[in-house]
Amino acid sequence: MKMYIGGEWVDRSENGEVVNPYDNSVIDTVPSASIEDLDSAIASAVRGAKAMADMSAYDRFLMLRKTADILQERTEEFARILSMEEGKIIGEGRVEVGRAVQTISLSGEEAKRLYGETLPMDAAPGWTGQLGFTLRVPCGVVAAISPFNFPLNLVAHKVGPALAAGNAVIIKPASDTPLSAIKLTEALLEAGAPAEAVQCVTGSGSRLGDPLVSDPRVRKVTFTGSRDVGERICRTAGLTKVTMELGSNSPLIVMPDADIDKVVAGTISSGFANAGQVCISAQRIIASRDIYGDYLDALTQGVERIQTGDQLDESVTMGPMVRAEDASRVNEWIQEAVSSGARALIGGEYSGAMHAPTVLADVQPDMRVSREELFGPAVAVTPFSDIDEAIEMANQSNYGLSAGIFTQNVDWAMRFAREVDSGNLHINSGPGFRADLMPYGGLKESGMGKEGPRYAIQEMTETKTVVFHP
Ligand code: NAP
Repeated sequence: MKMYIGGEWVDRSENGEVVNPYDNSVIDTVPSASIEDLDSAIASAVRGAKAMADMSAYDRFLMLRKTADILQERTEEFARILSMEEGKIIGEGRVEVGRAVQTISLSGEEAKRLYGETLPMDAAPGWTGQLGFTLRVPCGVVAAISPFNFPLNLVAHKVGPALAAGNAVIIKPASDTPLSAIKLTEALLEAGAPAEAVQCVTGSGSRLGDPLVSDPRVRKVTFTGSRDVGERICRTAGLTKVTMELGSNSPLIVMPDADIDKVVAGTISSGFANAGQVCISAQRIIASRDIYGDYLDALTQGVERIQTGDQLDESVTMGPMVRAEDASRVNEWIQEAVSSGARALIGGEYSGAMHAPTVLADVQPDMRVSREELFGPAVAVTPFSDIDEAIEMANQSNYGLSAGIFTQNVDWAMRFAREVDSGNLHINSGPGFRADLMPYGGLKESGMGKEGPRYAIQEMTETKTVVFHP
C-alpha cells in the first residue's frame, strides 16, 4: 500500500514489509518515509488545519458519520486486514472494527458539543462592565502515534477526536501494523475529509519520531505505546501539549467470597485476549489464600480449552503474538520466574510467534513477570492473606492503568475503588474491560491525559478567553 502525504498517495523505493506473524508470509509493503517526506506532511497538515478550521462543526459531524458508515459496511475487509497484520483472531478483528465504528461515530457527535462558557466578570472586584466568555479552538496540527496492538481502533481514538475538534492530523502507525491505518485514511477521504487534513506517514518511529514531535508546527502529540518511548517523546516534544497512553501490568484481586466460575471467565477474557497484548491485560492475579487452590485448578482447566493456531481459522481462540522476538522474550521471563520458584501450571512453551497460554502460580511480586509489563499470554498468580495485603500488592507497581476485583462485599469493593491507584477500576470484572465512550487513561507511569472521544477532544482543543470592555 502507499502512504498519504500532501494530498497524494505516494510510494518510495525504500519500503518495509508487513508480515502475517502466524506463517511469516508477506501481506504487503509500505513506503519508508524520508525526513523530507515527513516535512512535506507537516507543511501540508498546516494547510489542512486551515481547511478544517473553515469546516463547520456540522460538516465535521457528517464527515465522521459517513466514515463510520463506510467502516461498518466494510467490516469484513477491515477485520481480515487487521487480523492478518496483527495476529489477533478474526472474531477479535470484527469486534475491533465494531469498536472503531463506535469511536468515530462518538467523535462525530462530540463535534457538535464544543462549548465555551460565559464568565461572571462582575464577580471580580472593581468590575466596570466587562463581558467575558471563552471559546474552544482546535490546536492546529495533531501528531497521532499509535501502537501495533489495536491498529484500527486506537488510530480511530486519535483521528476521530482530532478531526471532530477541527484539527488536521498526521498519523504515524506502528510499523508492524500500518495497513489498517492506511485503509482508515482512505475511508476518511472518501467520506469528505479535506485532502490535506489527514496525512498517513509510514516508516520507523525511532527515525521519524524526534523530528515529528519536536517540530514547532505540530501543536499536539497524542501517543499510545510503551512507557519508554512515551518518556522520550515528552522530553523531545518540549512546549507542546501531549497525551500519553502507556503500558501497565494490571492487577486482578480475587477475594475469598468471589464466584470462581466468573473469576475464571474474567481472568481468561482479560488475560489472554489478543494473546495478552492489551495494555489493560490482567497480568498480576492477586488471589486469596482461602480459594487459591480451587481457583488455580479451575483456571488451569479453563486455559486448557484455549485453542491456539491460525488467527483466520474461526475455531481458533488465540492467535500468535505480533513478532517471534516477543514470544521469545515472554518465554524468557516465564523461565526466569520458574527458575526462581514459580510453578508453570500450564503452558510455558513457544514456537515462532506462537506462545502457549500460560498460568504461573506462586509468583513473587519482585519477579520480572510480575514487576514489569509482560504484554503476552500469561498470568502471574500470587496469594494474599487479607484485603490490606491485596491492596498493597496491587499498588506495588510503577503503572496504574486498570485494575479489577471480584467480591460481593461492598466494603471491600469501596476500599478497592478508593485505595487502588489506577485510572480504571472494575468491580466484578477483569481489568481488560473498556467501552470506547469512557474516560480512559492511566495514573503514575501509565501516562497522562484521557482518551474517549469526549475527553480526547478536550485535550485536542485550547481555550481562548475573550473580554469585551465598556
Ligand atoms: P512502542 O514500541 O512504544 O511503539 C508505539 C509507536 O511509537 C509505534 O508507532 C512506533 O513506531 C512509535 N515509536 C517508536 N519509537 C519512537 C520514537 N522515538 N518517537 C516517536 N515514536 C516512536 O509500542 P508498541 O510495542 O507498538 O505497543 C505496545 C505498548 O503500547 C505497550 O506498552 C502497551 O501497554 C501500550 N499500549 C497502551 C495503551 C493505552 O491506551 N494506555 C493501548 C495500547 C497499547 P514503530 O512501530 O515504527 O517502531
